[in-house]
Amino acid sequence: MHELINRRSGRLTRRGLLALGGFAAGGAAWLSVSAGPTTAAAASKESQKLARYQPGPNGKLRCDNCLQWRPPSSCVLVEGDISPSGWCLLYAPKR
Ligand code: SF4
Repeated sequence: MHELINRRSGRLTRRGLLALGGFAAGGAAWLSVSAGPTTAAAASKESQKLARYQPGPNGKLRCDNCLQWRPPSSCVLVEGDISPSGWCLLYAPKR
């Protein structure tokens, strides 16, 4: 088995550093998952630019008749202030 700590110097070996880095990355991933769906959803919202959000409607398609819209001015998928009369590429009609 490879050593994580050099027996002579007591310092971390390169393999030890890699193992610690992997542990840290795994811990960060676990923390982001365990933070809860609200935080995870907020962190994964799309930017208005990428969603091609516009403050005006696309014909009859508007945020306030989209499944993702949350009154008074929010969206589950797109970050920032969202106008009820706006629209973006992620539009999904309410049933
Ligand atoms: S159209 Fe829907 S998905 Fe797009 S910004 Fe408006 S509420 Fe969000």
